Amino acid sequence: MSALSFDVQPPSSVDIRALRLRLNGDLVLPGEPGWDDARRAWNLAVDQHPFAVALVESEADVVSVVQFASLHGLRVAPQGTGHGASALESLEDVILVKTERMRRVEIDAGSRTARAEAGALWQDVVEPAAEQGFIVLHGSSPDVGVVGYTLGGGMGWLARSRGLAANSVVAVELVTADGRLVRADRDNEPDLFWAIRGGGGSFGVVTAIEIRMYDAPELYAGAMFWPVERAPEVLHAWREWVETVPDDVTSVGRILHLPPVPDIPEPFRGKSFVLVEAVFTGPEAEGAALTAPLRALGPEMDTFAAVLPTALPHLHMDPPKPVPGVGDGMLLDELPPAAIEAMVATGTPPVLSLEVRPLGGKLAEASAGNGAVGALEAGFALFAVGFAPTPEIGVAVEQAVDRIKAAFAPWESSRTYFNFAERGVAPERLYPAETYRRLRRVKAQYDGGELFLANHPIPSAL
Ligand SMILES: Cc1cc2nc3c(=O)[nH]c(=O)nc-3n(C[C@H](O)[C@H](O)[C@H](O)COP(=O)(O)OP(=O)(O)OC[C@H]3O[C@@H](n4cnc5c(N)ncnc54)[C@H](O)[C@@H]3O)c2cc1C
Repeated sequence: MSALSFDVQPPSSVDIRALRLRLNGDLVLPGEPGWDDARRAWNLAVDQHPFAVALVESEADVVSVVQFASLHGLRVAPQGTGHGASALESLEDVILVKTERMRRVEIDAGSRTARAEAGALWQDVVEPAAEQGFIVLHGSSPDVGVVGYTLGGGMGWLARSRGLAANSVVAVELVTADGRLVRADRDNEPDLFWAIRGGGGSFGVVTAIEIRMYDAPELYAGAMFWPVERAPEVLHAWREWVETVPDDVTSVGRILHLPPVPDIPEPFRGKSFVLVEAVFTGPEAEGAALTAPLRALGPEMDTFAAVLPTALPHLHMDPPKPVPGVGDGMLLDELPPAAIEAMVATGTPPVLSLEVRPLGGKLAEASAGNGAVGALEAGFALFAVGFAPTPEIGVAVEQAVDRIKAAFAPWESSRTYFNFAERGVAPERLYPAETYRRLRRVKAQYDGGELFLANHPIPSAL
């Protein structure tokens, strides 16, 4: 229950009916038709049991649900897709506000901004932005939510040259705990604007976000695949190579064990690889020269080519539809040869993908205009994940991820990355100490009663 629940009444069936009459969207309660669809997260390994699910269709719907929850001692958890649902606490007294019906996107070439409603996926923005000659700071997957991704930082293919997505937000429209729809930007609600850009979903329900678009540069991108048996040689070479490339190159070193399922195309199905994926923001000839040392290792497949911005969300081959997954990430200060050995030793099934992304470049640059996510000063980000079609397999994957994290512990940073933390994490590990204290003060100012529940909640300073 909300911390302000001492004088509130749980909703009666009359109250529920009254709320339904006010909504354009739907309110679904346990046991009602559509309940299992409504409560489902993109990550099918997460079994969500909220008090109710509100399938909102407008800002007014969000205001109605927030006011209702506040009045009746319930909490509110915003959710776009449920990609990040695994870290959510119990939803017992929580209305899950799903924004998936709010997917409108407007591209404004003049101001070089895109405005995306809260339920928009990255693919909804990437394509219309590209049609007008722009690129946006999406991540590796086309169907991750723009809002959830960006509020947690947002580290994508242009991260080393353009920084985190949260630091390219122009404005956020959100409903706060007192039921107001506000616009937070540099001039309005500046503390809230700072907090939400990296502080996640603890401060309100975002109804729309305005993000900066960049002129689409020339892009040279792709992946090279080698049989997994060559992982030590390839990953050591990649590790040395990343020291030599400019900030215009963002890359991933990865071990991949693909399951033998029909959804995976034939050349990859059931096979294991070591691979390097990379994006270079520049001309093809320069990109080919930059990647030549990797090509000299004789990859079995090489997909590098000059590409359009619309190709980038598919480069990492993330699953195109909901799947059950168990994973977790960590930041690493360094990646010495012994860490590559650890990667080879622990990147084995049931883990499907073990990846390491070099950071640096714009990611490490602190700027006064940044939001709470600030800069990521670590050297590398690691993420490990496996398919979990049954709870038993989920436990086995969990244990494998634990083994990976233990093997990398000697190089672990004190801080961890919000979006790659798929388990509950002490929130003070997500930020520098002063940033965390400021976030708690902003939480106290805007949601002292802790109405909003995020996957990585910021506790109020009250
Ligand atoms: C396949 C896959 C690929 C990924 N690739 C990347 C990547 O390349 N880079 C990267 O940085 N991360 C990546 N992630 C992590 C991803 O960014 C996080 O899981 C993110 O939280 C997903 O946002 P979502 O809205 O899709 O998920 P959700 O689970 O819907 O949202 C996550 C959290 O965001 C907040 N939130 C969502 N919508 C709202 C709203 N309207 N108002 C307020 N708060 C809201 C809530 O606190 C919610 O719990 C990936 C995850 C997956 C599963």
